[in-house]
Amino acid sequence: MDRLIITAAITGSRITRDIAPHIPYTPEEIVQSSIECWNAGASIVHIHVRDPKTGLGTQDFTLFQKVVNRLREQTDLVLCLTTSGIPGRNLPTKERLIPLELEPELASLDAGSINLGKGVFSNPPDFLDEAAKRMKEKGVKPEIEIFDSGMIVTALRMQQEGKLDEPLHFQFVLGTPSGAPATHKSFLHLYEHIPKKSTWSIIGVGKSHLPMSMIGLTMGGHVRVGMEDNIYYDKGVLATSNAQFVERIVRIAKAYGREVASPDDTRTILGLRESKDT
Ligand code: ZN
Repeated sequence: MDRLIITAAITGSRITRDIAPHIPYTPEEIVQSSIECWNAGASIVHIHVRDPKTGLGTQDFTLFQKVVNRLREQTDLVLCLTTSGIPGRNLPTKERLIPLELEPELASLDAGSINLGKGVFSNPPDFLDEAAKRMKEKGVKPEIEIFDSGMIVTALRMQQEGKLDEPLHFQFVLGTPSGAPATHKSFLHLYEHIPKKSTWSIIGVGKSHLPMSMIGLTMGGHVRVGMEDNIYYDKGVLATSNAQFVERIVRIAKAYGREVASPDDTRTILGLRESKDT
């Protein structure tokens, strides 16, 4: 089994401080929280940025640049920048793809549309084609987010069409209100459909966070933790930092006997190019 890659999803774009008082907003807070996660054993950080005034997600290039530059200066973390923008607000493609200008090693690619909250998280074919094309041009590996089985069908078709290169890297997002449920059975159904040489990681949203992490840990996949996906450390107990989640999964991995991947291990496992500044 490969070493365990832990991704920390620091802030996302949707959860605000009125319900999660410790969620990072400003570039400084996002950088600080990322460094804490790195020190705790995360090798990838998944980055969104927030408008520091309103706390809402934004695709502002300068904010991404601030976070990325500081993390490149201060850590050897693998950076996975979002291209989802603000799910449900469906920003123009150009705006969603702006983080690719920073040439991160990884970027998210949501392989289809899905209802999210009261809106639709729209990822139509022309968006997917453009995103995949830009990632290829920039040498960015897509982290293909899978919310249900049709998204795997889409990703495999794009791979056959030469738009995505093997080996593919999947991020299963289970337990969203209109997506695949966060159960073992549901996961196994999805898992059966990905090519054997793929790499994969898993997110359980909300209360399914820890059970789904156990699947990643024990089945040779990888895990994503952090406040973008889950704000409760325990039942009714809000997390006070992202590092708490990383520390817990590191403890469990150690007890289970699976080593944790460093950022350089992660580059090897996922076949990433070296980051520009490292
Ligand atoms: Zn995200």
